[in-house]
Amino acid sequence: MDSLFHQPIDIVRRAIEWRMNRSFTRAQCPKCRNPFNRSHVIKCELLPFDEDLIEDFLKDYDTIQNDLRNAGKNTQAEKFTYSIMDFYLNGMYYEEFNEAFSSLKRLIYPLQVDPG
Ligand SMILES: [Zn+2]
Repeated sequence: MDSLFHQPIDIVRRAIEWRMNRSFTRAQCPKCRNPFNRSHVIKCELLPFDEDLIEDFLKDYDTIQNDLRNAGKNTQAEKFTYSIMDFYLNGMYYEEFNEAFSSLKRLIYPLQVDPG
């Protein structure tokens, strides 16, 4: 396990932007065409789930949502935007996070010729 800050700077930047909900802020969701934010990854099913990780992801998702409910934060629990992107970050799967970010970027900006 290695911390985020030992990762390449591009990944660090993407991770921080993601956590601050500042990724793709001026973009439209490629599916529903509403302004993009993190919640679209789940509600518009923008990214495929990693088959090997889905059980851990769902467990993690339930735990965090239950924690919010138990803390009386029902609104937050309902608006929960925890996606596979956050799961990758929490689990320190930085390469997977970076690949998923690039996939999102290609979905959101399909006409840009940018391999990143
Ligand atoms: Zn959407």
